[in-house]
Amino acid sequence: MLSNCSACGKVFMKISKPVCPDCVRKELETVKRIRDYLKPKEKRTAPLAQISRDLDIPIRYIEYLIREKYFDLTRYPSLQYKCKNCDTLITLGEYCRSCSEKLRNNLLAAKEKAEKNEKDNDGSGSHFYKSRL
Ligand SMILES: [Zn+2]
Ligand SMILES: [Zn+2]
Repeated sequence: MLSNCSACGKVFMKISKPVCPDCVRKELETVKRIRDYLKPKEKRTAPLAQISRDLDIPIRYIEYLIREKYFDLTRYPSLQYKCKNCDTLITLGEYCRSCSEKLRNNLLAAKEKAEKNEKDNDGSGSHFYKSRL
C-alpha cells in the first residue's frame, strides 16, 4: 500500500511502520547514538534534556523514539516522556495512568450521551434534513 511517510512526507510502500525506509534508517542511527551515549554507567541515568543537548537531538524526537519502543526501558530508566495530556513522565503508551482513566470515563460519558441523543431524536431526524435543504 502506498502511503506518505509520517516523518518526511515522501510517498513510499508501507509495510508496517508509518515512516519510509530512509527515515527508519535515520531513526536507527539516532537510536544507536543514544544507546552509545548511555553506555557508560555514569551516563545511564542522564535526563532527556542532557541527552538532547549533548547529542543535538530534539527532545521531542527522543520521546518519539522511546514511544516507538526502541529502548529497553528497564536498562535505561531515565528514558521517560511526558504524558500527552499533562506533565507526568511515563514509559508506556501515550497517556499517564490518571489521564487514561479520565479519558476512558470521558469516552464512556460521550458514548452514553450519544446513545441518549439518538433515542431523543427518534423520528425527528427527517426534520433536520428538511431544514437544511
Ligand atoms: Zn521518510
Ligand atoms: Zn497525564
